Amino acid sequence: MTTTFTPRQPIWCAGCGHFGVQAAVIEGLRALAIPAHETAILAGIGCSGTMQNNISGYGYHATHGRVLPTATGMVVGNPNLTVIASGGDGDGYAIGIGHLIHAFRRNPSMLYVVMNNAIYGLTKGQPSPTAGPEEAPELPLDAVQIGLTFPSSTFIARGFVGRPAQLARLMREALTHVREKRGFAFLEVMSPCVTYNDTYPLWDAMYTDIEQEPGHDPGNRVDAAARCARLTAEGRLVTGLIYRGTGRTYESALHVDRVNTPAMRGSAPVARREDLGALLDRYYC
Ligand code: SF4
Ligand code: MG
Repeated sequence: MTTTFTPRQPIWCAGCGHFGVQAAVIEGLRALAIPAHETAILAGIGCSGTMQNNISGYGYHATHGRVLPTATGMVVGNPNLTVIASGGDGDGYAIGIGHLIHAFRRNPSMLYVVMNNAIYGLTKGQPSPTAGPEEAPELPLDAVQIGLTFPSSTFIARGFVGRPAQLARLMREALTHVREKRGFAFLEVMSPCVTYNDTYPLWDAMYTDIEQEPGHDPGNRVDAAARCARLTAEGRLVTGLIYRGTGRTYESALHVDRVNTPAMRGSAPVARREDLGALLDRYYC
């Protein structure tokens, strides 16, 4: 774990969509006046995984596909933190997909920003799980639809860096959801890789704001799933606030309490189901 209160400069290619995602995160943190000492940014592997170096706050570079369980541990361990997990489609939707499913199921109060460029950028352009039919024989994975299958989901949205005003608003709403401990905020951002898969023109043409669709109710998960499926089948890129609901959070289900051990005494509350203090005391003998 590193403490990065002196942000570094991004190392991305000029024009990479990730600049827009990072700008939206920084703008959202500023808008909500979330201080650096209450911010934790975790990142997975890949070009997007360097974002945690560039934003003021606690930083953690997770192993491949494992950013979500690590971030969940932070949520449980220190409820004072606003936890932001970030990563790409290759990291989160291939090796990491099992953790995403369980994050929807558990509903921990944290933000997961996925920078989807439909490619493995850092390793020079292999098809990822969201690659289009031209690049891969399989149908692209739709993580929004996966999230919508879970009654425990509480916030699902998709943005596009080509629409920065909408993205900034969605980021603020997602961070507010997390800051108010309402559960797991999933924000997928379509973020083109201009070097290996420049999808700006394609996604710009497909762009659809579901909030402008007549009858869209972001409080109706089943209707949102059907609407997204229909629009996607029509070849449209569905963006906007897709679903927002309420549900029990993971940290509240774990009965957050203080653990009475020499290391944790006087520190932030941590989770326990039973008497974790007695268990941990064995390691301090
Ligand atoms: Fe961005 Fe692609 Fe360059 Fe990686 S290779 S920094 S994803 S443009
Ligand atoms: Mg990618």
